[in-house]
Amino acid sequence: MEIEKFYKLPALTYSYDALEPYMSKEQLTIHHDKHHAAYANGVNAVLEKIERSRRESSEIDMKATLKEMSFHLGGHKLHSLFWGNLAPAKGKNNEPKKELLAVINNEFGSFNRFKEEFSKTALSVEGSGWAALSFCRCTKRPLIMQIEKHSYNVYPNFRIIMVLDVWEHAYYLDYKNDRAKYIDAFWNIVNWDKIAERFEKMIK
Ligand code: MN
Repeated sequence: MEIEKFYKLPALTYSYDALEPYMSKEQLTIHHDKHHAAYANGVNAVLEKIERSRRESSEIDMKATLKEMSFHLGGHKLHSLFWGNLAPAKGKNNEPKKELLAVINNEFGSFNRFKEEFSKTALSVEGSGWAALSFCRCTKRPLIMQIEKHSYNVYPNFRIIMVLDVWEHAYYLDYKNDRAKYIDAFWNIVNWDKIAERFEKMIK
């Protein structure tokens, strides 16, 4: 088994202008290359700090260090999920197929009701955070999660299959402070095929 020592910024599987007009090239470039990179570098720096303290047998502030770890690691993992659940717009009626749609309909009553609940979750995040579609690994039922910053309010041991970043750095260049407009635009560039793939892995 090969062990990866550090976290890497994943390359996007589409070009920086592929999500236009819903997400501009400029917005996506700065978000991926600067903001996400800072979280990947941040978590690697915390790992190095811990390793150094072990090597030197020196003390570190565990509470502060692990809080920092949770912030950067949460940021890195959530952004990695986010890029994967975006794709160039396909046109109208962008919705999941078969099994996943059935599960969503069964839980939320309809796909529209799900979108409303998820959008409200994203809109009402206090300050910076995320909306996430997650599944309980015991019941296999979907549950929406509202994450503050990158890690508060996370349900332990739930699988996250879709996220929406509502930190202002995600939309400010394109939508100024209009988070609702950004959330509406998001539905056009959701990659339901990728989300279905994550869902299928989750239910196995
Ligand atoms: Mn972000």
